[in-house]
Amino acid sequence: MLPEVLHRIEAACARAGRDPSDVALVAITKGHDVEEIRRRVLVYGHRILGENRVQEWRAKAEALGPEVEWHLVGHLQRNKVKLVAGVVLIHSLDSERLADALEAEGARRDIVFRTLLQVNVSGEARKYGAAPAEAPALARHVASLGHVTLEGLMTMAPYSDDPESSRPHFRALRRLGDTLAVPGLSMGMSGDFEVAVEEGATWVRVGSALFR
Ligand SMILES: *Cc1c(COP(=O)(O)O)cnc(C)c1O
Repeated sequence: MLPEVLHRIEAACARAGRDPSDVALVAITKGHDVEEIRRRVLVYGHRILGENRVQEWRAKAEALGPEVEWHLVGHLQRNKVKLVAGVVLIHSLDSERLADALEAEGARRDIVFRTLLQVNVSGEARKYGAAPAEAPALARHVASLGHVTLEGLMTMAPYSDDPESSRPHFRALRRLGDTLAVPGLSMGMSGDFEVAVEEGATWVRVGSALFR
């Protein structure tokens, strides 16, 4: 339930000596219909939501209206950039080619896309995201663009039953963020968001824990 998740975020902030207002919960609503979203998320006054597929997001955004702040957390294909103008934050920028496609679309519409660089810090083969070694060049490239801004980094830790196993990956992402001087860190999901908060997350992306 959402209030319990917020409570656990606050407790993790207290343990880490952090201000809870520096951590935003992105409620991941993939796989849940708009009625469930109203009942499990919006009813509590929460308005920051995330989806991982463009098509699913578009349908829900239309149904739920303009008061929701939508984040895109899943892989974005270049041929879909024309569809994501209403997304407030794209967590999954992972290549120069995608950055260039967003730049062209942003110039065409006269808007700026806010993005996070997704980094595969664990090196797990099936994960999306740029390699850590590529991140500095990618960040420099985005900094040269006028219609894309880079506000931080995002990662997904390998799946595990033990939240502690995510800690080194979250720590690595934070170090990389320090090196690149980008402030935001999107890390932590239902199984490991408290560890992510302890390690400096500014966005946690929590889905299933809100719907059970
Ligand atoms: C589904 C998803 C989440 C949320 O996962 P849960 O384990 O359900 O909390 C977070 N980030 C991304 C990129 C996702 O696809």
